[in-house]
Amino acid sequence: MSLIVQKYGGTSVGSVERIQAVAERVKRTRDQGHQVVVVVSAMSGETDRLIGLARAIQPLPVPRELDVLIATGEQVTIALLAMALEAAGCPARSYTGSQVQIRTDSAHNKARIRDIDGARVCRDLDAGRVVVVAGFQGIDREGNITTLGRGGSDTSAVAMAAALKADECQIYTDVDGVYTTDPRIEPRARKLERITFEEMLEMASLGSKVLQIRAVEFAGKYQVPLRVLSSFRDGEGTLISFEEENVEDAKIAGIAFAKDEAKLTVLGVPDQPGIAHKILGPISEANVEVDMIVQNVGSDGATTDFTFTVNRNDYVTALGVLKATAELLSAREVTGDQKIVKLSLVGVGMRSHAGIASRMFEALAREGINIRMISTSEIKISVVIDEKYLELGVRALHDAFGLADGDGVVS
Ligand code: ADP
Ligand code: ASP
Ligand code: MG
Repeated sequence: MSLIVQKYGGTSVGSVERIQAVAERVKRTRDQGHQVVVVVSAMSGETDRLIGLARAIQPLPVPRELDVLIATGEQVTIALLAMALEAAGCPARSYTGSQVQIRTDSAHNKARIRDIDGARVCRDLDAGRVVVVAGFQGIDREGNITTLGRGGSDTSAVAMAAALKADECQIYTDVDGVYTTDPRIEPRARKLERITFEEMLEMASLGSKVLQIRAVEFAGKYQVPLRVLSSFRDGEGTLISFEEENVEDAKIAGIAFAKDEAKLTVLGVPDQPGIAHKILGPISEANVEVDMIVQNVGSDGATTDFTFTVNRNDYVTALGVLKATAELLSAREVTGDQKIVKLSLVGVGMRSHAGIASRMFEALAREGINIRMISTSEIKISVVIDEKYLELGVRALHDAFGLADGDGVVS
């Protein structure tokens, strides 16, 4: 007998019928002799609806109250799923994050899980019940409800699996695995049987929303066997593998993109030691995370230009801070662009193969796509391009690296 944690996302629990279908799948797993803990998201669209209600009252809702509100979405689905399981003849109990004691820090709307008390869950499992746990939510030291950031139910599931030492954590969603890129953008994207943990971490951090980045981090830290599967179709899904070698021997595992990027530039700042710190210090003090950074080589020797990217939600804040800094530094000008996106190629195979970057740049040039910024690491190359070229860029790279079904492995 093994212990399996299954997570079902919003679309998978989007209607009563779908919740009943989930109950059937859970019951089948239990009938095979496994203990099952189920983590569920809110019904699809519900979290957005609740955020919309909050914003209609307060454009920037009080974070604590927003958490009280948006945590309700998952409370609905745990109860409905537990009822559907009972109706299907499968004993079940539902618990909110605070009942299970999913303890988090107090960073409302983006809390991090500290620890989980699995005792109550274990008692139910031993009594033969399926345990249904609300994803996305936890409780801080003072008993406040917290939420884990968008897509956070993935993290709840992996953290539950880690705490209970589950044999596998299965993420059921509306695609049947991790693809070479988002199949909504490139219909020829190919499902991967396996992806290495490192690649999945990069894909998630570079914008692939199929798994929340923190879920992948947790899986790595606690070595939780993780699989992404479809709630609608049977299949093996994609295994996030901890083995370093890429079984498919491809140089590129996939293409990730992040749509919610923005770029800021300060022109004509003094070219002196400490300038980067003077510009970025106030940005980080304003709690804005900076992603890519480029400092130009000053042409006149006295001044230079400095560009960095931030999340589009932070654009207005960052622009305000940067303008104040620019004035202090007597910089010439501050400019910004919110219509940019980041495309990234990811693959552990890049380590041992040269020429990936030039092939990437060539493919984009062929389509007339101008590259605005570049950043590289051992296993990824990212470029910033204009938003209007997102789909064209993804498809061009997908083609150039032969990632589609039947394209085979490029030499
Ligand atoms: P859930 O509600 O089940 O958590 P999400 O919408 O959060 O589902 O994640 C699944 C979606 O992730 C898919 O519908 C797909 O559009 C998107 N996606 C982005 N990149 C990828 C990828 N590389 N492989 C598979 N799906 C991806
Ligand atoms: N319901 C939350 C969201 O929409 C959490 C999740 O679905 O993972 O972001
Ligand atoms: Mg999700």
